[in-house]
Amino acid sequence: MSALDDARRAAAELLRQTTGSELPEWRPTFLGTANEPNAIGPVCTDPDHVESEDPSAFGCCPEPIIAVDPPLVDYLVALLNGDRERGEQ
Ligand SMILES: [Zn+2]
Repeated sequence: MSALDDARRAAAELLRQTTGSELPEWRPTFLGTANEPNAIGPVCTDPDHVESEDPSAFGCCPEPIIAVDPPLVDYLVALLNGDRERGEQ
């Protein structure tokens, strides 16, 4: 087992509880009144929250919403979603 396998397994329990999936899809999001994404979080599955219209993080959104320096947001989302795609194969 690799360090990534160990880390993924450690995160899986939290993610299963908060999102229903051990490998949820991630998205850029906003905390506060930032002008650019400054956080990442699992994609919200609430049908009343259309993320293409408002990508902010609300009470309907699954945890964790993780504050991230803006230059790292797209990179971390791509890494997590890439790991998700490999994990589902
Ligand atoms: Zn939401």
